[in-house]
Amino acid sequence: MQKRIINLIKKGLQKLGEVLYPYRCPFCGKMIPEGICDSCRNILEEVSEPCCRKCGKPIRNEQKEYCTDCEKRKPPFEEGRSVWLHKEPVNQAIYRFKYQNQRYYGNLFADCLFEKFSGELKRWQIEAIVPVPLHWKKQRRRGYNQAEILGARLSRLSGIPLRLDLVFRTGYTIPLKQLNPTERRKMLQNAFYVSEEAARCRNVLLIDDIYTSGATIGTIARKMKQKGVSKVYFFTISIGQGF
Ligand SMILES: [Zn+2]
Ligand SMILES: [Zn+2]
Repeated sequence: MQKRIINLIKKGLQKLGEVLYPYRCPFCGKMIPEGICDSCRNILEEVSEPCCRKCGKPIRNEQKEYCTDCEKRKPPFEEGRSVWLHKEPVNQAIYRFKYQNQRYYGNLFADCLFEKFSGELKRWQIEAIVPVPLHWKKQRRRGYNQAEILGARLSRLSGIPLRLDLVFRTGYTIPLKQLNPTERRKMLQNAFYVSEEAARCRNVLLIDDIYTSGATIGTIARKMKQKGVSKVYFFTISIGQGF
């Protein structure tokens, strides 16, 4: 009987905690007022030098300027920044943010982007924040576009307008991993449409959750430049390594 009462009190307190502190650390799930818990902050691996001067991927060789992907592809964007390396526990948190409806993680991630890179936003003189769009079918199934959540928060923090009318997804893409590089390029070429409106913006920031090979961001950047945008930059939460 006593045990049952104690359990009930415990449960009640837990519920009260959830009401008072409805946030959990996105990386370990610990309940905290808001943000990232201290122990996770200590273990998360932030992107650090030496980095690729183009995409910002960490590289091993300090003598090199660019990562292997950028050396090969010469991407059409100017520069990019990401907060963390795409490995445990960041990859898991991004997975939950995208596929398990943990939308509020997006605000925390965008706060980190702003904390770290508000200087870049000023230096690059960004005029528009543009989230990488999802196909409408995917967005309807998921209920939201994770890149849009990041972009909306960053727009609120920085005062730079969020533009959802510049890039559209026209094609429904199958996972890029299943394709060879030529097929991949072809499919991506047909997957995005950039509107004429883009020509009014000089400096644009694309925002997405992860940067891997840069194929998606590169494709959009190329199309934006064809429409008259002068400079394209990007932010992502995490990035792979580029040796
Ligand atoms: Zn944590
Ligand atoms: Zn690079």
